Amino acid sequence: MIPGPTNVPARVMRAMINPIINHRSDDFRSLYREVREKSKKIFQTENDMVILTTSGTGGVEAAVVNLVRKGDKIIVPVNGEFSGRLATMIENAGGIAIRVESNYDEVPSIDRIEEAFENNKDAKALYVVYNETSTGTRIDWLDKASEITSRYGAYYVVDAVSNLAGDDLPVDKWNIDICITATQKAIAAPPGLAILSISKRARDFMINNPPNTLYLNIPRYLKYYEQNTETPFTPALPLFFAYNEALDIIIEEGLENRIERHKICSQAFYDALEAMGFIPFAKPNARSRTVIAVNYSDGMEDKKFRGLLSREFRVLVAGGFGELKGKVWRIGSMGEVNRYHVLRTLSAISAAMRMLGVKISDDGIDIAEERLAILK
Ligand code: PLP
Repeated sequence: MIPGPTNVPARVMRAMINPIINHRSDDFRSLYREVREKSKKIFQTENDMVILTTSGTGGVEAAVVNLVRKGDKIIVPVNGEFSGRLATMIENAGGIAIRVESNYDEVPSIDRIEEAFENNKDAKALYVVYNETSTGTRIDWLDKASEITSRYGAYYVVDAVSNLAGDDLPVDKWNIDICITATQKAIAAPPGLAILSISKRARDFMINNPPNTLYLNIPRYLKYYEQNTETPFTPALPLFFAYNEALDIIIEEGLENRIERHKICSQAFYDALEAMGFIPFAKPNARSRTVIAVNYSDGMEDKKFRGLLSREFRVLVAGGFGELKGKVWRIGSMGEVNRYHVLRTLSAISAAMRMLGVKISDDGIDIAEERLAILK
């Protein structure tokens, strides 16, 4: 139950025992074509897709180095570790990161983003981490931001590493130029691939202003696909097989159903944990639907609590990250997450707290059951 890598269905694991094929063969070309087409469905886009053999960070870095040039002003909301890293990556690429900061338990408001554009009319882009995995917060104005980016002629880039396929994200409807995710979170495949959608406008810019990178060079990936349906470099073939299977599972379930399942499971977690006396870290209007961050209460010690859960109950939850280390614990409620995972996790938490000498109300588990009944 950590926020990635998440549990991988056996079907997806088994797909990786396919023989290693030649990546310059028709076998790979048909796999690549298939995976790209299915990826468009989960991104809800007609845009170009790039699949990189790298973790999520490589995907985010590709979205930065292919679009940001020296002196470019980039607006970036910062409310946690990953959005902070994004701002640093922008600066490393020579850009000027205009950070719109908020407390970590909330998200910068859309009004403040608009104000940042008003004060920086020449800003080239808005880069947003949709779901800040380190704080369990989620930006709730992504649908509205494209009105602002279009008004200022700015590019719109979204890091959806920890919620794509588990949260609302219609890339075309929201006019997102580059959207990035990775395989190991809500997609429920092993780690190792990053997937990016690239709008025509972003693509034209990159082709006319080639980036100073080889491995993460997006125009090169697009050209190789167009000319030969191949990747420029050797792809992690077992991960392509696995990702293809994971995409089939998503399509079989139906993207909408999957998003709804994530919403229901996260709500069950929040309501149950509150009934059990815990306090979620994020303010109610900023709560993630895939990562549940919870404050440590007095007397709860991070390593002891998580160690007990893992050792005695075989339930793994994550600790806090960056500034929140030792202050919060986090549940990954994504990918395969279902009734079983929610109830088992809550039961284990309740039992672990009793073992630590704190009696916890079991109302929480009843509340979770009620919320989850719809998934039966
Ligand atoms: N962005 C977000 C929002 C993330 O949650 C993560 C990882 O948790 C990353 C980027 C980096 O991904 P990776 O660890 O796969 O490189």
